[in-house]
Amino acid sequence: MSSKEYAREYKRKQRIKARKEGICIHCCKYPATVNYTSCEKCREAIRIRMSAYHSHAPDRPDKPPVCPLCENTKNKILYWHHWDDNQPTKGMWLCPHCNAIVELEDRKLVQKYIGLKSAVIVDFLSR
Ligand SMILES: [Zn+2]
Ligand SMILES: [Zn+2]
Repeated sequence: MSSKEYAREYKRKQRIKARKEGICIHCCKYPATVNYTSCEKCREAIRIRMSAYHSHAPDRPDKPPVCPLCENTKNKILYWHHWDDNQPTKGMWLCPHCNAIVELEDRKLVQKYIGLKSAVIVDFLSR
């Protein structure tokens, strides 16, 4: 086995171990985010790298004059929001605020928020 192959094999094993232990498979340092194999830090780094890459992706619809979700004309900057890295052109233009919210939805955190909110409401009713 060459040293290159050895290094690759070592990395592969590290990744399997990290996955099992629920730590980030990229840095093998920080705990992985719920439902993901990488930590918050690496996820952000990957997201930035991917969005820089996808900002050059062709075949995307033209930027609309306003965010289609909040329709706030003050939000001049629009980000390309996509959820499938295999189909980077499948997505929509959103302002940073709406983009942050839909990210939560994509991570199923909105559903979780509704659950937490309901628990608070029920708690208040029982007082
Ligand atoms: Zn990491
Ligand atoms: Zn918006």
